[in-house]
Amino acid sequence: MFRPSLFFVDDEPNILSSVARLFHGDPVELRCFPDAKAALEAFAAAPPAVIVSDYRMPGMDGIELLERCRDACPGATRILLTGFVDMEAAIGAINRGSVYRFLRKPWEAVELKGAVLGAVAESIASKATDALSAYLGSLIGADSADSALAALRGFLGEPSGLGIEGLGVVAEGDVLPAAGGLSFDCPLAGGLVRAEVEEAEARIFREAGLEDRLASLVRTALSGCCLAAESAGAKARLVELSERDPLTGLYNRRAMAARVEAECSRQERYGAAFSALLMDIDSFKAINDRYGHAVGDAVIAGIGKIILQCCRTVDIPSRLGGDEFLVALPYTPAENAVTLAKRIQALAKGLGEELGLESGLTLSIGMAAAPGGSCGLDELIAAADSAMYEVKKAGKNSIAGPGGLISSEP
Ligand code: GH3
Ligand code: MG
Repeated sequence: MFRPSLFFVDDEPNILSSVARLFHGDPVELRCFPDAKAALEAFAAAPPAVIVSDYRMPGMDGIELLERCRDACPGATRILLTGFVDMEAAIGAINRGSVYRFLRKPWEAVELKGAVLGAVAESIASKATDALSAYLGSLIGADSADSALAALRGFLGEPSGLGIEGLGVVAEGDVLPAAGGLSFDCPLAGGLVRAEVEEAEARIFREAGLEDRLASLVRTALSGCCLAAESAGAKARLVELSERDPLTGLYNRRAMAARVEAECSRQERYGAAFSALLMDIDSFKAINDRYGHAVGDAVIAGIGKIILQCCRTVDIPSRLGGDEFLVALPYTPAENAVTLAKRIQALAKGLGEELGLESGLTLSIGMAAAPGGSCGLDELIAAADSAMYEVKKAGKNSIAGPGGLISSEP
């Protein structure tokens, strides 16, 4: 869990040990240094959210240390501890902007703790505000609910420093046990995205009077995510709906055509082999007539599933309409396309048995191949279609290519 760091610099060991006791259990990572030099080195390596330094120390004094820290990293809050006699030097340092505030020694524990944790809360809030705008910008590119949630998770983790303990998507109506901190919800797709700020972080924001700022940061982050997730989800769903055949989940003709055209121009440039299989279910009308349309639908859906199962991610499987399917196979020579066709025929036979079709389930398949160089969607479909017609003429349940029948049996 990310904790903002707090440097405390004092040359008196008993002060450092009472400081350690004072901040025990607070949501800060306390590091104590006995002199300015050690603190400066650690500061250069990783600046803390807040640095508190004693004024009078051997070697470099507290004002010089805090001035050097400001030069190295102006974002860290610098607090000076000073005795009554050094007030003027402290006021000068405040006026020069090298010190954020000073506290008089001997300090009151409550005052010191309040000032330091207030500065920690301020620093977390300003860091989170910067991170929030970067995160909101990244949501524009989120193209799914998952990527919007991943961006939210990224923001609420390390970059925001907000101490978000739990982030989850829960069903509406679910009651999570109160963690003692603050809980924020945003409705998303019938459920809720919930972020929980840990009790310790919630407390320092509350005590610093910054609870509203914390709430507004987390609420903005959540609603940004939910907005992006909803519209990205809706957009992705619409694209999906417009491209898919609802019965089989395969691409429809239009989506297939756009993909094949794009693939054709790529293949032409690289001269790679490209083939296609056009498949038509044999005597499908008879299946509909004998078993009813529901079984006919199950046959079409089952063939769609078989095709999907046999395709690689680069392949373009589609339902052209009715009982006709086209699978475009980029980077695939004719022999491999025929092997795939046989596999689909064998699986279709199994599907027919599974569905109890007495006359079996067979496919007529026409194969077309562009060996490399030229390739066009219309030519590919026309060639595959005429090969398929050869199969139907020759008695169905077979595969044909540009040279005629290839196999009479799958
Ligand atoms: P062939 O062996 O020559 O291909 O003959 P066929 O009986 O398969 O004839 P054809 O391919 O011309 O018939 C396709 C039939 O598919 C016509 C239509 O009623 C039916 N059909 C088209 N779409 C669907 C659908 O979504 N569900 C069902 N159940 N039937 C469909
Ligand atoms: Mg048919």
